[in-house]
Amino acid sequence: MILILRSDATSEQVDHVVKHVESLGFAAHLSKGTHRTIVGIIGEEDEARNAPLKAIPGVADVVPVMPPYKLASRDAHPQDSIVEVGDCKIGGGHLGMIAGPCSVEEPERMDRIAESVRKSGANIFRGGAFKPRTSPYAFQGLGEDGLKILRDSGQKYGMPVVTEVTDPRNVELIVKYADMLQIGARNMQNFVLLTEVGKTNKPVLLKRGMSATVNDLLMSAEYILSQGNSQVVLCERGVKGFDNATRNLYDLASVALVKTLSHLPIMVDPSHATGRPELIPPCALAGVAVGADGVHIEVHDCPEVAKSDGPQALLPDQYHDLMEQLRGVAQAVNKKIACPQVTDSATIESNI
Ligand code: PEP
Ligand code: MN
Repeated sequence: MILILRSDATSEQVDHVVKHVESLGFAAHLSKGTHRTIVGIIGEEDEARNAPLKAIPGVADVVPVMPPYKLASRDAHPQDSIVEVGDCKIGGGHLGMIAGPCSVEEPERMDRIAESVRKSGANIFRGGAFKPRTSPYAFQGLGEDGLKILRDSGQKYGMPVVTEVTDPRNVELIVKYADMLQIGARNMQNFVLLTEVGKTNKPVLLKRGMSATVNDLLMSAEYILSQGNSQVVLCERGVKGFDNATRNLYDLASVALVKTLSHLPIMVDPSHATGRPELIPPCALAGVAVGADGVHIEVHDCPEVAKSDGPQALLPDQYHDLMEQLRGVAQAVNKKIACPQVTDSATIESNI
């Protein structure tokens, strides 16, 4: 931590800053420049961060040297982390391909969608059983019945499943059915929920809040990691912009940035980012091109009857075509789609 003193700081104030820093148990390294004096604080940065140093008279600014997310930081772990969801690896050159409807619906439909996305190359099946809806009158999800349907369709077609957990009281229940727990954008800073999923041994898909900075996202990951759960996958799903031509603003620069700041895998979700099916394929390709470790897409076989997010769903054929194109981009950036047998229909048939 470095303290930058005001240009008009008096020598009494400079002495006081040094004494105060030392009284907190740190060593102080004073450096007088031509225009400004700075004080380097030597000691545990976390402890220094918690002290109200900017309130010391004569201090103009406090500049941290280390990022506040010490477990999520690449400094702490220079190699890419690989998160395993069932047999599927995400990160370190492996692409996770999550696909499925927004909400879990009836079993026959879930089977149809699971079969189609699996044949196209998806390696994780998704669907929400507890939905975080803006309106309390909107469809809220099938609850535990939905979890069973999701798990059964995933098992039939050989895919682990991811589903959203919206309430710390449901973590225990959802852990029984899901292979990966999703924290949605609206709950990215629900710290009680983050702490609860951090106590489980399930991989977590942590979506960026719609008004969250990259720093906020990494600090939320830190909540999970600090509980002992190292299996965190981040997800860029768009942030609020000023233009409602797209549902959200797809922040691809943040994906490239996160790859430099953190060892954690980061996926992209062009479905929620754009909200428009015709924009999803190009934005998915761009996501992998900038370094994303996977793509999260909503797919529905009949979007006009979908219980939620129908207008942004890709049809199974559109998803199939996208996956063909994604294989080309994956090859260009030297990554592989994680499940070895994804297009092996014999394996799929043997599970049915
Ligand atoms: C979802 O995945 O269906 C969802 C609600 O996503 P988000 O939290 O990103 O809005
Ligand atoms: Mn959705």
